[in-house]
Amino acid sequence: MAGIAHATLRAFLALDFDEDALSLLGAHLRRLRAMPWANAIRWVSPDNLHLTLRFLGDVTPTQAERYAEAFDVGLSQIAGLAKLTLSMTPPRFFPTPSRPRVIACLVEDNPMLSELAKLAEACAVRIGLNREARPFKGHITLGRTRDALPRDAALPRDETATLVWPTAITLYQSRLNPRGAIYTALRSFSLGSHL
Ligand code: ATP
Ligand code: MG
Repeated sequence: MAGIAHATLRAFLALDFDEDALSLLGAHLRRLRAMPWANAIRWVSPDNLHLTLRFLGDVTPTQAERYAEAFDVGLSQIAGLAKLTLSMTPPRFFPTPSRPRVIACLVEDNPMLSELAKLAEACAVRIGLNREARPFKGHITLGRTRDALPRDAALPRDETATLVWPTAITLYQSRLNPRGAIYTALRSFSLGSHL
């Protein structure tokens, strides 16, 4: 089956963050990697930090192109994007503390973020993908569980949420690699200027 005619790419749409947010996320990563249970986690490379709006999975280049076009049109109809501000928690076990699949900074629900996720979903359906069954829950993954975590594994106690500013939305190609995924931007969408 494999061959040029059937070539697909693994793609996802994500929010990218500004330097301040990335440096805070980087500091979280360094602190977590020093935990005694750190080896049970596959840590995300600091260059790969993002918030997934929609994972497309394997799509044809034509589908990726149509997705980008549809998203671009929809995005132009959302007002005030440059003001998009997100409130981000310190690292948490996600989706549940008892059976974590990832460690992530969670993002508080926000009308504009929901609107972006809704558009990202509508465009996926438009190019023929199945509807996402799970509700959108914004998070920035820092690491993924590789082995079961020790029962007493705990995150640093920290309740303070921080405001963060996304800089752009990017449609990425993801190439999986034993040493970590490699992301390449296929198309970037500006959110306008914060100034
Ligand atoms: P790896 O799979 O090697 O750990 P990765 O998860 O970073 O790397 P991908 O699996 O290509 O790379 O996923 C890209 C992004 O999409 C990641 O943020 C991932 O968490 C998210 N993602 C992957 N699968 C799904 C899914 N089924 N639903 C929602 N988001 C997903
Ligand atoms: Mg993955």
